[in-house]
Amino acid sequence: MRKPIIAGNWKMNKTLAEAQAFVEAVKNNIPSKELVDTVIGSPALFLASMNELRQGTDLQLSAQNSYFENAGAFTGETSPAAIADLGIEYIIIGHSERREYFHETDEDINKKAKAIIANGVTPIICCGESLETFEAGKTAEWVEGQITAALKDLTAEQVSNLVIAYEPIWAIGTGKSATAEIADDTCGVVRTTVEKLYGKEVSEKVRVQYGGSVKPENVAEYMSKENVDGALVGGASLDAESFLALLDFV
Ligand code: PEP
Repeated sequence: MRKPIIAGNWKMNKTLAEAQAFVEAVKNNIPSKELVDTVIGSPALFLASMNELRQGTDLQLSAQNSYFENAGAFTGETSPAAIADLGIEYIIIGHSERREYFHETDEDINKKAKAIIANGVTPIICCGESLETFEAGKTAEWVEGQITAALKDLTAEQVSNLVIAYEPIWAIGTGKSATAEIADDTCGVVRTTVEKLYGKEVSEKVRVQYGGSVKPENVAEYMSKENVDGALVGGASLDAESFLALLDFV
């Protein structure tokens, strides 16, 4: 059985004081991590402080990006080794906003995945198609291509432990969510792609999230689907009460 994983993606929102208040509000009110992994994806700037505040609780943390080198002359970048050193569990990579606004390629995402895993952190690798690709009926081949490129040269054991988020671009921040059937089908495409590359055992272990306008009112329906192991949630993760309500399905 795959453990569900609900991850908030705050994007570029909140001040330090707001991030701290959020952690205080949720940290003792989430379900046990034996039942669900509850993760906040925060701006890197707040992670050290949030990490101190969540000690001794089941709240887990994620960065929203990192570079693929551990150190050096890369002004403005964040080191995966430094994130690992703080004790942060996850790093989101390949979010469509990173791909679109910061021109990240599949090759960059593959390099980041390798560097993050080498530092003992779990990548949450995002994939997903544009509205144009969706309407052309090419979602499956698009997602298969992104996943194949992102996983290049990773071992079966590494892939078993990672998280992949299927996020149709047309459903992110638009209020227009994919139906639970579409989410299940395309999370299934992700799983089949992993099966083709690494075999059935690995494909049954890898966790696949759906993301795109997930809210407390629709999360249970997504979570009831066979191929959906969790959700990556933007807007509805910003408010503590709404974030906690996303976990009510447990
Ligand atoms: C996201 O940021 O990954 C996301 C899915 O955003 P939203 O839930 O707001 O659509």
